[in-house]
Amino acid sequence: MTESRNVVIVTGIPGVGKTTVINTAIEQVKEKYGEDVLILNFGTEMFEVATKAGHVKDRDEMRKLPTSIQRDNQRSAGIAIAEKAKTAKVIVDTHTLIQTNNGYLIGLPEWVVTEIKPKTVVLVEAESEKIASRRAGDDTRARDAQAVADIQVHQEMCRAAAVAVGTITGATVRIIKNREGLVEEAASELADTIME
Ligand code: ATP
Ligand code: AMP
Ligand code: MG
Repeated sequence: MTESRNVVIVTGIPGVGKTTVINTAIEQVKEKYGEDVLILNFGTEMFEVATKAGHVKDRDEMRKLPTSIQRDNQRSAGIAIAEKAKTAKVIVDTHTLIQTNNGYLIGLPEWVVTEIKPKTVVLVEAESEKIASRRAGDDTRARDAQAVADIQVHQEMCRAAAVAVGTITGATVRIIKNREGLVEEAASELADTIME
C-alpha cells in the first residue's frame, strides 16, 4: 500500500516570512478547497517547555540558552509535535538552523524528523537585504542584528540542512521565494504543496 504523509515542514531563516506565508496559505486552502489545516509552531511548543522549566520569559531568549538545554527542550517539543501531527493536514512552522551563542543548532535532527515523517520540507527564501529590513521593521519580536552577507550564508546553509532532512526522511524539498509585497504568491505555492 502507498504510504500517506500529511505533514509539511516550513523552514527559513528568522524574519523571512514563514509565519506570514503559512497563515495566508491556510486561508487560501480553506477558501479554495474548504479544508482546515492544523498549524503547529515548533517555537511555541518549545517555549511552553522552556517556560514550565523556568528557563525563559520570552521566546527569543531560547536561542541564547546553553545548547544542552535547547536540545533537551527541542526533544520534548519534537515528541509533542509528532503526537499532535497525527491528525489531518498539518504544517510545522520551524527552523533548520538556529543561531545560538555556540554556532548553529540543527533544528531538525534525525530523532525529531523521523518521528514527524514529513511529506515535504519547504524552505522559504527572500533577498537578504529584504530580510534585514523585515527584521528591522518588525517590533513584535526581539530579532538579532545580522549583516546582509551573513544572512546570505545562513540562507545557503539552510538549503543544505533542508536537503539533509530529505535524505533522512525521503521528504521532497521545495524552495519558495517570498518576494517583497507578494505574500499571496508564495502562499499559493505552499497551498499547492499542502494539497498535493
Ligand atoms: P521567525 O522565524 O522569527 O518566526 P518568520 O519567518 O515567521 O520569522 P514573519 O514573522 O512571518 O517571519 O515575518 C517577518 C516580518 O516580515 C513581518 O513583519 C511580516 O509582516 C513581514 N513580511 C513577511 N513576508 C513579507 C513580504 N512578502 N513582503 C513584505 N513583508 C513581509
Ligand atoms: P520562531 O517563532 O519560529 O522564531 O521560534 C522561536 C524560537 O523557537 C526560535 O528562535 C528557536 O529558539 C526555537 N525553535 C524553533 N524551532 C526550533 C527547532 N526545530 N529546534 C530548536 N529550536 C527551535
Ligand atoms: Mg514565525
